[in-house]
Amino acid sequence: CCGAPVALQALSASLMAKILAPSSKAAAGTINELSHVQIPIMLMPDDFKAYSKIKVDNHLFNKENMPSHFKFKEYCPLVFRNLRERFGIDDQDFQNSLTRSAPLLSEAQGRSGARFHTSYDKRYVIKTISSEDVAEMHNILKKYHQFIVECHGNTLLPQFLGMYRLTVDGDETYMIVTRNVFSHRLSVYKKYDLKGSTVAREASDKEKQPRPPEDMPPRPKSGNVQQRLQTLRIATRFYCAMKHGTCSPDADPQVSPPPARVCCYRPSKVLVVSCGLCVLVLVVYPAKELPTYKDNDFINDGQKIHIDDENKKMFMEKLRKDVEFLAQLKLMDYSLLVGIHDVERAEQEEVESEDNEGEEEGESDGGGVGTPPDSPSNTLDSTKPLSPGEFDPTIDVYAIKSNDSAPRKELYFMAVIDILQHYDAKKKAAHAAKTVKHGAGAEISTVNPEQYSKRLYDFIATILS
Ligand code: AMP
Ligand code: AMP
Repeated sequence: CCGAPVALQALSASLMAKILAPSSKAAAGTINELSHVQIPIMLMPDDFKAYSKIKVDNHLFNKENMPSHFKFKEYCPLVFRNLRERFGIDDQDFQNSLTRSAPLLSEAQGRSGARFHTSYDKRYVIKTISSEDVAEMHNILKKYHQFIVECHGNTLLPQFLGMYRLTVDGDETYMIVTRNVFSHRLSVYKKYDLKGSTVAREASDKEKQPRPPEDMPPRPKSGNVQQRLQTLRIATRFYCAMKHGTCSPDADPQVSPPPARVCCYRPSKVLVVSCGLCVLVLVVYPAKELPTYKDNDFINDGQKIHIDDENKKMFMEKLRKDVEFLAQLKLMDYSLLVGIHDVERAEQEEVESEDNEGEEEGESDGGGVGTPPDSPSNTLDSTKPLSPGEFDPTIDVYAIKSNDSAPRKELYFMAVIDILQHYDAKKKAAHAAKTVKHGAGAEISTVNPEQYSKRLYDFIATILS
């Protein structure tokens, strides 16, 4: 997972320009040279198989901190660029989100145990995926693109925005970037991963363990922090070298008190590495963020999603089309990710963290995180002030407000995640496991993609009130 931040730095301006330039052999251009490259009106079949690659060789430069050689591959660049446009994402903004500051490591884990990162501004999720997932993406990309065209980007399916491979010392890391289901600025206090099945669908005790208090030392394994610091130094150097042509960051990071809540995550410590020209910030989280609850927890909690009829109708209509599409592609095992923002609770937390901040500032002697020139210190700054519970629907595209009769004023963030599991691959794996256990010819009792989609749809219909 530690390759990911470096890989994301590798998307910095000149590299991106090179990647997207019509001839990838062209010398590294600047982003300005790129602005005249038009988005193609129509994609060609070959665009769905295309890729661009760059190789970075740093022979004598910065060897102790940074891999001397690494390779970066972007899959189907024009297709993803076209998709970003259809999802209303400006290319320059996208690039800034991924490269202006180091992405944040999130604790949530996927089915393969892979960790993921969010971009520093919380708008995008960068997930490490397997080569099988990359193959599956290639299989579905044309149909997915067609679907996005037909629904005008109005879908609950993951918004796939870019797919990459980073190779360092022969180790390959595959990554896919999607839009964050949750808000980039409004905290979520509870989240559920729903599949419409009640078999083994509750959060484990480990998952539910309460987070340690915020003043506890970060992360139980200090080695992890060291490793991440090292990655941060590499990223800093790379970023700065790209930008200024030179970089020698501090040996020791500054340690700052935790800032106020960052979205739904509560950092315990902030480390800052700087070389005078550039500053990158490492946010360290306590052992566990929000647990991910599941179907049975949802039922046992008596949880309800209070949205009005109009919103419910629109949501269910979208979900129906989305899951029908997934069933056609024989995809299954995906989930509906649900996050709940409580407006009053968030306001209260805001007041509390402002109070804390005041105290901490009084104690420290000005060594806090300043406003570095190249790295936004307040990653959640929004250009126009929004009142509590308000959101910008062009950014928080999945947000739905609770209805007037809801017991509390809430916002719900709901979308489909984890769609790349193919029925045949799953069946094959299940078959192999059963054959080992029960011998050849054992029956497989998994539901098929059609049944899967209906079950999820029906379950979701019952929980929206
Ligand atoms: P997955 O690997 O897709 O099964 O995701 C594992 C966990 O990561 C989920 O339960 C979510 O908590 C979180 N997650 C995955 N994708 C997203 C996303 N696009 N936005 C926000 N959180 C996500
Ligand atoms: P790579 O490491 O780039 O070779 O890609 C990882 C996996 O993605 C490979 O094992 C292929 O199965 C799949 N893949 C990569 N590129 C393509 C393509 N253009 N068309 C179909 N599958 C691909």
